Amino acid sequence: MTSFVNTLHAKTILIATQNEKKRAEIKEILKDIPGILLRCPDDFPFLPLIEEDGTTFQENAVKKATILAKACNTWAMSDDSGLEIDALRGRPGVYSCRYAGANAADEKNIEKVLSELRGVPRERRTARFVCTIALAGPQGLFFVVEGRCGGFITEEPKGKYGFGYDPIFYVPDHRQTFAELNPAIKNRISHRAHALKQFTEKLQPLIRQL
Ligand code: IMP
Repeated sequence: MTSFVNTLHAKTILIATQNEKKRAEIKEILKDIPGILLRCPDDFPFLPLIEEDGTTFQENAVKKATILAKACNTWAMSDDSGLEIDALRGRPGVYSCRYAGANAADEKNIEKVLSELRGVPRERRTARFVCTIALAGPQGLFFVVEGRCGGFITEEPKGKYGFGYDPIFYVPDHRQTFAELNPAIKNRISHRAHALKQFTEKLQPLIRQL
């Protein structure tokens, strides 16, 4: 009964990403926050298609969240994230998802990065994942937060967990790639975890105001 009542009073938030693995990480990290009901794009028919044409993660995240919140008349959170590699002057950055071309498989994006880094020594293979999350309502943007996680790019893929560039992102503190790490650990230390911690801190007072 209590959980039914909680659901009735919950604030619906659309997780505005089509990437199922990203969505699963977000849901897992936010699962204990009271007062919210997370929804995915499939729950809303006729969503507008949004071109991610921003030059920064923030521009893309704000654009997606504000357009979808208005279109669906609900709150919407949008995560725009990617990998910045110093030796590639910040690439793939906002092009992380489509680095080897539109709809490129993760393996192809990884191959392209590894071939561009061939011969680059370990100390110059520094990189970071960045995650920007925006929350908007039908009237406009509430806030934007950003999380980062630093590491190195390996010379070959390792590990079976996660998605995207996880198999080539080595975290020195854990001596493993993101794809070798237990997902529960990735969910504690990742760029997304850092962004979602700030997201939660800013979200809770907003929900209490309702
Ligand atoms: P977006 O959907 O435009 O934000 O694309 C983000 C892209 O960045 C993903 O498709 C991945 O290639 C990469 N990416 C973002 N977060 C992660 C992560 O946690 N692990 C591995 N790759 C990631």
